[in-house]
Amino acid sequence: MKPYPLLFTPTYHQRIWGGDRLRALFGYSIPSDDTGEAWVISDHPKGRSTVSNGAYRGKTIQDLLQMHPEWFARERMERFPLLVKLLDANDDLSVQVHPDDAFAAEHENGELGKAECWYIVHAEPGAQIVYGHSAKTREELQQMIAAGCWDQLLQRIPVKTGDFFFIPHGTIHALGRGIVVLETQQNSDATYRAYDYDRVDSTGKKRELHLDKVLQVTSVPSARAEAQAKTCFEQNLRITQYQTGPFFTVQKWWLCGTHEERSRQEGFTLFSVLSGTARLRWAEGDMEIRKGDHLLLPRNLGRFILEGELDAIVSWPPAKQAALQQAS
Ligand code: ZN
Repeated sequence: MKPYPLLFTPTYHQRIWGGDRLRALFGYSIPSDDTGEAWVISDHPKGRSTVSNGAYRGKTIQDLLQMHPEWFARERMERFPLLVKLLDANDDLSVQVHPDDAFAAEHENGELGKAECWYIVHAEPGAQIVYGHSAKTREELQQMIAAGCWDQLLQRIPVKTGDFFFIPHGTIHALGRGIVVLETQQNSDATYRAYDYDRVDSTGKKRELHLDKVLQVTSVPSARAEAQAKTCFEQNLRITQYQTGPFFTVQKWWLCGTHEERSRQEGFTLFSVLSGTARLRWAEGDMEIRKGDHLLLPRNLGRFILEGELDAIVSWPPAKQAALQQAS
């Protein structure tokens, strides 16, 4: 089978903080009005998306990694490294922190750590996120958590549509209400909940907290990841690179007209269309892509042409060598 761009059917996840904006913004057939997450490109066991187009309709990424490892990387990939989600925070999410790879491997059954980043797709006026904390020492962090001084401890940042945030391992964070994000993250579900606003579910129960692990993995003092956005313009395409490093590279593409590109030889590319439509042509075929579509472009797709007007978030994992060099 010749490589072709893969489209996916997401899995939807209901959350107490979820809403109906994924239907309103993208037209998705969400299962309820408290849908918090759509895992739009996922090979995580808690929600694998399936291919929705072409000969491999119905297959998972795991299936394709077996059949066509050369679509994904130069060397066979043990597991798919990334997970792309849309999150609809209709209410405040719990305040949480994620471990790094070493801690997750040891304490979470071989999970990866979870570095993540957010592109703000939609923000209501006054929307804010939690990002970082004010404690200067681990002892102070422990005391403020024990005393429940969350207002003093948590740092809040106002956000607007189009903002971007990188959230390294060990960063205390939470989405606030009225925000929809496209999240690009390591393929992991390792999350430690620090604070849930003392909410109870429909049966009167609070969600579990993981304060012991929160205290172990939280970075102290808290550091804001430096913005490193760079923009370039070439042949009807403006590219802003928000983030590159040992976990993922994330860019925004604004297309207006016709642009010719080659697939990256180092590995696959993920492509999430946030607005607009375009024709995508490659050697073996062509297709229309539009707002709400999420694609995987195989590394051996070759030359392709995009023609139309769209905004997309584009991401890929580091080449293996680069990851090892940066980590050491
Ligand atoms: Zn998170």
